[in-house]
Amino acid sequence: MCLNKHSDAYAREEPVMDKGMYQRRDRLVQEKHHDVYRNQEKWPESTQCSSCKAIFVNGRWSWASSDEVLHNVVCPACQRIADKYPAGVIEITGPFFSEHRDEIENLFHNLEKKENAEHPLERIMAISDEDDKTIVSTTGIHLARRIGKALASAYEGSLSMRYGDDEQSVQLSWER
Ligand SMILES: [Zn+2]
Repeated sequence: MCLNKHSDAYAREEPVMDKGMYQRRDRLVQEKHHDVYRNQEKWPESTQCSSCKAIFVNGRWSWASSDEVLHNVVCPACQRIADKYPAGVIEITGPFFSEHRDEIENLFHNLEKKENAEHPLERIMAISDEDDKTIVSTTGIHLARRIGKALASAYEGSLSMRYGDDEQSVQLSWER
């Protein structure tokens, strides 16, 4: 399996200290993450996540119940939560958020509920305070975008959005 191949390569390069090798090592780690979390992968029909019980049927993850579970895996969303490795990050700065925190957090949770009902891999991982900002992390890029756009459309302020190289991750910032 790919993971083992990458781990071996990682181990071989561990003792090498020059800068070029560090860069290569970073790239390998990124590839590993890409393999672990990719959402486009096709699982066999009737694959269930052993953690959240989402099930892969008719070519997509859903909350459908199935009499027949043929395979068990940990889904990409549960894997990201376990690894604390979000796909979407929204950085919130400015005084507005703390002044309206309850209302805005309700908005986030309502958006999550709607998105997650249709797309089980889209979840909020955490809403955490760091120094002068609040970080919202998500398991999927669509929920992160939806949260960012909802903030801008409900409260204006200034929103920016940047995708990762492979478009498997997105970083947003919102300030008001
Ligand atoms: Zn899961």
